[in-house]
Amino acid sequence: MMKKVLILEDELNIRSFVVINLKRAGYEVLEAGTGQEALDCLQRYPDIGVAILDIMLPDMDGFEVCRRIRATNKQMGVIMLTARTQEMDKVTGLMTGADDYVTKPFSPAELTARIDALFRRMGGENTVSSEILTHGPFVMNTRNHTLEKNGIRIRLTQVEYAIVKLFMQNPGKALSREDILSAVWGREYDEEKIVDVNIRRLRIKIEDDTNNPSYITTVWGFGYKWGT
Ligand code: CA
Repeated sequence: MMKKVLILEDELNIRSFVVINLKRAGYEVLEAGTGQEALDCLQRYPDIGVAILDIMLPDMDGFEVCRRIRATNKQMGVIMLTARTQEMDKVTGLMTGADDYVTKPFSPAELTARIDALFRRMGGENTVSSEILTHGPFVMNTRNHTLEKNGIRIRLTQVEYAIVKLFMQNPGKALSREDILSAVWGREYDEEKIVDVNIRRLRIKIEDDTNNPSYITTVWGFGYKWGT
């Protein structure tokens, strides 16, 4: 079955450009021009694997669409389309639960690479045998992609899950932002803020006290470490 991608963009020329290129890359593409159309489409096609969300839309902004998706769906890959001049868009988008972002103007190859990476991360572990990782109150099941803390399921996005897994596989080891970027996103960003934002989001979910983190600890001037 073809992998389904949703493109939400009200500017018809950009949307058509994306549609043509994603079809050429072998994806089945669904289109929406407003936030409401996108949400309706996601309800009709629950097997959409990745959604690409523009931010400036006629009815609601792309962040709101992302928030509504994440209220019920943590598994879907979400990529935000951000404007070059709006640095804050990236942080806001990631805080609302997006996995990645692409800055306009973008090349078709760049967008396709990001989508491919999200699909890989979603399906890549189906063939790996069941594995349980434990640390303190945490139990990770890498077959089901679940994380529990004290027996209670913590709902994570794909990216958050990938970061925790990387930490749990490397307990006590200091990981640089660069290490985390290449392991989780599969590439080097020109800036590493994306790691910090995701760590901030994760800490809210898993730490007992976010002001005094004891699981994901900061290694000053370097990166992060799992445990103290
Ligand atoms: Ca727009």
